[in-house]
Amino acid sequence: MAPSGTICKEVVKSNTASSDYHSPSADLESRNSPSRKAAAAHTGHSRVSSHNEVQELLECPVCTNLMYPPIHQCPNGHTLCSSCKARVHNSCPTCRNELGNIRCLALEKVAASLELPCRYQPLGCPDIFPYYGKLRHEQSCRFRPYNCPYAGAECSATGDIPSLVEHLKNNHKVDMHDGCTFNHRYVKDNVLEVENATWMLTVFNCFGRQFCLHFEAFQLGMAPVYIAFLRFMGDDNDAKKFNYSLEVGGNGRKLTWQGVPRSIRDSHKKVRDSLDGLIIPRNLALFFSGGNRQELKLKIAGRIWREQ
Ligand SMILES: [Zn+2]
Ligand SMILES: [Zn+2]
Ligand SMILES: [Zn+2]
Ligand SMILES: [Zn+2]
Repeated sequence: MAPSGTICKEVVKSNTASSDYHSPSADLESRNSPSRKAAAAHTGHSRVSSHNEVQELLECPVCTNLMYPPIHQCPNGHTLCSSCKARVHNSCPTCRNELGNIRCLALEKVAASLELPCRYQPLGCPDIFPYYGKLRHEQSCRFRPYNCPYAGAECSATGDIPSLVEHLKNNHKVDMHDGCTFNHRYVKDNVLEVENATWMLTVFNCFGRQFCLHFEAFQLGMAPVYIAFLRFMGDDNDAKKFNYSLEVGGNGRKLTWQGVPRSIRDSHKKVRDSLDGLIIPRNLALFFSGGNRQELKLKIAGRIWREQ
């Protein structure tokens, strides 16, 4: 047996019988699969345990992510994923031997025979996927957690909608309002500070759902502008069931915008950069504000309604 076959042989064995091989990264892997106990209850213990050990072998020992083809190995049989292979300068991270260009086809084939639950199973996703289809599903799984919609600072909080609503209230002190129509005032005294984008977030409870009203200054090409837009705390297919309008004016003039709220799956910046909202050139905003053109005093009126 060539030394390069070692690890693949063990993989095949552990797929047919419950072997007691444990990869050094077994502990890390179990973190990624909190769903195993639930799966065991359904499918019987022995099948699931061999399944799990194969799954552990599919975890890259360097970065701990699951490996997808091409899966590489060194002449001594140590496997690693293709993105790690590109980073290790042709030296096996485990034994320091020259890495070469050896693929572990057997492990790739064993992976193809696996079916695994979605990684969001603990959050409610009931689906089971072939190994190579799982990743694609997880990128759009409706149970995947949402990112915090607060735009002002880097916030790494994630969770379901009710927990993010609590998080916005408690951690970001965001104003919450009930109702599908609103009148919101934005006041800022130093209007020339467009670079340090002034931004604000208000959340509206309407139809039992939550909508984030964003307001901020940014530079559109050479022109300083303000933008106001609405994001929906939920998925895109639900966001599309709503419409909203925004209106701002003064001195007998008025700008209006009618749009569809964007899901918070779309980042704040993505929505802003696609200009999907009410855009107010700064000159016009100052004109609407009245007074000495040094202070921003905008009143934005809005309404949210359900698409019939
Ligand atoms: Zn890796
Ligand atoms: Zn090695
Ligand atoms: Zn899922
Ligand atoms: Zn946050």
